[in-house]
Amino acid sequence: MANTHHNLIILGGGPAGLTAGLYAARARMDHLLIEKGAEGGQILLTDWIDNYPGFPDGISGFELAEKILAQAKRFDLNSMFANVTSIELSETVKRLELDNGDSLSCDCLIICTGARPRPLGVPGEKELTGKGVSYCATCDAPFYRNMHVAVVGGGNTAIQEAAHLTKFADKVTVIHRRDELRATKILQEKAFANPKIDFIWNTTVTEIIGTDGVEKLQLLNRDQTTSELSVDGIFVLIGVLPNNDMLPLDVLKADEGGFIPTDQETRTVVPGVMAAGDIRSKEVRQVINAAGEGATAVLAAEQYLTNLS
Ligand SMILES: Cc1cc2nc3c(=O)[nH]c(=O)nc-3n(C[C@H](O)[C@H](O)[C@H](O)COP(=O)(O)OP(=O)(O)OC[C@H]3O[C@@H](n4cnc5c(N)ncnc54)[C@H](O)[C@@H]3O)c2cc1C
Repeated sequence: MANTHHNLIILGGGPAGLTAGLYAARARMDHLLIEKGAEGGQILLTDWIDNYPGFPDGISGFELAEKILAQAKRFDLNSMFANVTSIELSETVKRLELDNGDSLSCDCLIICTGARPRPLGVPGEKELTGKGVSYCATCDAPFYRNMHVAVVGGGNTAIQEAAHLTKFADKVTVIHRRDELRATKILQEKAFANPKIDFIWNTTVTEIIGTDGVEKLQLLNRDQTTSELSVDGIFVLIGVLPNNDMLPLDVLKADEGGFIPTDQETRTVVPGVMAAGDIRSKEVRQVINAAGEGATAVLAAEQYLTNLS
C-alpha cells in the first residue's frame, strides 16, 4: 500500500464518508476510503435513530451503518483501515501520512473526519451513554415523553434544545455552572417564560448515578454545597469537538472551534479539498445532512478532477 496514488481519497467512514464512498464507487472513480475505527462513526454510539428517512420504525445506528456500507460495497467501494496522522496540502497532489509509516497521495481529498460531543468527564457518564445520557436532544427528545430531564449547558444549543425537550418531557432542569446564560437574549427570554423549564445556577454535575438507566445526578454548587437531583435523563450540551488532529488547520482556515469552512458545494479554500459532515463549520450536525454533504462533495470532486485533466 506504501505510496499509492488515487484520484480521490475520502478520509473518514461515518455517514458523510460512507455516502461519499457510495457515490464515488458508483461513479466508477479511482477512489479510496480510509477509516481508523469501525465504519459508521458516531451513529455507532446511538441505540436508535428515529429521524433518518426511509425507516418508518426507526433503525439502530449499527444497522444503518451496515446498510450504507453494504450499499457502497455493492458498487465495489475501495476502503482500508488506517489512522491518518498528518496531511500535506501545499502542492496540487495531496499527501497523507498513516500511523503505520505508509504514505498515500491523491488529486482530490474529501475530509469527513467528523466530530465528537464534548463530554462532562464525570463518573457514570460513559457507562450510561445511550441509557439516559445523551448528547443530542434533536435525536433523543421523543424518548423522554412525560419524564424529567436535565440539560447541562448555557449556550444557544443547550437553551434551544431545552425548549425542544419541553415538547416531550414534563420538566426540564437546566444546570449551568455560571449565574447567567451565554445564549442570546431572545432564547433566554423564551426559556425563562417556559413553565416547564427551571434552572439550577452556579452548579456542576459531579456524578451520574444509575444501574440500567440514569436515576439521579450528584451536584456541586459553587459555594461547595452538594445535592442530588432525580432525573430520567441528562442531555450534555456543552459543545462539540472536531476530529481535526491530522489537518493543517491554518491552511484550511479553520474557524475558531477548529471546524472547516466550505462553500455550499463543500469546497474548502484549498482547490481539490472538500469537507463534508460534522467536521464542516455549520450549525446542524445530523446524519441526514452529513450524508447529503458526502454526496455533494463527490460531485464537486468529479468537477474538480474533470477540470484538472
Ligand atoms: C450519541 C449520539 C446520538 C446521535 N443521534 C443521532 C440521531 O438520532 N439522528 C441524527 O441524525 N444524528 C444523530 N447524531 C449525530 C450524527 O451521528 C452525526 O451528525 C453524524 O454521525 C456525522 O457524520 P460524519 O460522517 O460527518 O462524522 P462521524 O460520524 O463523526 O464519522 C467520522 C469518521 O471519521 C473517522 N476518522 C476520524 N479521524 C480519522 C483519521 N485520522 N483517520 C481515519 N479515520 C478517521 C472516525 O473514526 C469516524 O468513523 C448523534 C450523535 C451522537 C454522538
